[in-house]
Amino acid sequence: MKNKLIAANWKMNLSAVQSAELFKQCASLAQTVPSDLIICPPATYLQMGNSMLESSGVHLGAQNVNQNLAGAYTGELSASMLKDCGCAFVIIGHSERRTQFNESDEIIAAKVKAAIENSLTPILCIGESENQRTLGLTNSFLTYQIDSALSLVDKTQMKNLVIAYEPIWAIGTNKTPSIAQIQQTMTTIVKHMYKKYGENFTDSSVHMLYGGSVSDTNCQAILSLDVVDGCLVGGASLNFEKFEKICQASVKPSLVAAK
Ligand code: PEP
Repeated sequence: MKNKLIAANWKMNLSAVQSAELFKQCASLAQTVPSDLIICPPATYLQMGNSMLESSGVHLGAQNVNQNLAGAYTGELSASMLKDCGCAFVIIGHSERRTQFNESDEIIAAKVKAAIENSLTPILCIGESENQRTLGLTNSFLTYQIDSALSLVDKTQMKNLVIAYEPIWAIGTNKTPSIAQIQQTMTTIVKHMYKKYGENFTDSSVHMLYGGSVSDTNCQAILSLDVVDGCLVGGASLNFEKFEKICQASVKPSLVAAK
C-alpha cells in the first residue's frame, strides 16, 4: 500500500525568514508522520529548501516549469534548472496558471513532457468549474484534461505521476465537494487511468491527490477514502499547526493509537 502523499503549495507567499522557519518545522514533522511530504515553495526559496530539507525525507517541488529546454525565455525556469535546485516534483496545470497566465492544454502537455524527460515528477492539476459541475460535465472534462495533458508522453514514460484533482470552485474558497462526490469523481479518474494505461498504471507510482480547501477539520474524512492517495494543500500549508494536523490525519487511525 502506498504512503499518503501530502503536497504543500505555498504559492506566492512568505518571506525568506518565514520560509526558513516553515522548512525547519516540516523537516522535523517528516520524522514523525509516515506520509510522504512535498513542499513547493516560491522559486526564490528552492535553494534554501534544498539545503534545509536535506536528509529529512521531505521532497522539494516547484510551482511551475517552462516547456522549453533552454533559450530566450526571460523570467522562466527550465526543468533541468529545477533539478539542479533539488526538485523532484513540479506542479503543472494549476488552475491559477491556466486562467491567470493563459496556459493552454497544449502548453500544459509540453510542460508535462519536459518534466518527465528531465526526471521531474509532474503534479498534474485537473479540475472542473462550478458551471461544468452544474451542467454534469465534470467527468468528461476531467478525462479530457488528462488525455490532453498526457498526449505527448509515451505509455512507458508514465512511471511517476501525481494527479491532483482540484475542483476550481473549491480552491481557496472554503468550499469542498461532499465526501461522496470526491469518491465518485476520483474513482472515475482512476478508472480512466486504468483503461488508458493498464498495468503501467497499476504497477507505477501514480498518486491521486485531492486538492481544494483542504483544512485541519476536513482532512480526516478526505484522507480516509481509499481512492485518495493524499492531498495538495494551499492556504493551510502556510500555517504549521494546520499543516501538521493534515499530515497526522494521513496516518491510519490504528497507527495513531499505537504511537
Ligand atoms: C491549491 O491552490 O492547490 C489549493 C489546493 O489551494 P487551497 O488549499 O488554498 O484551496
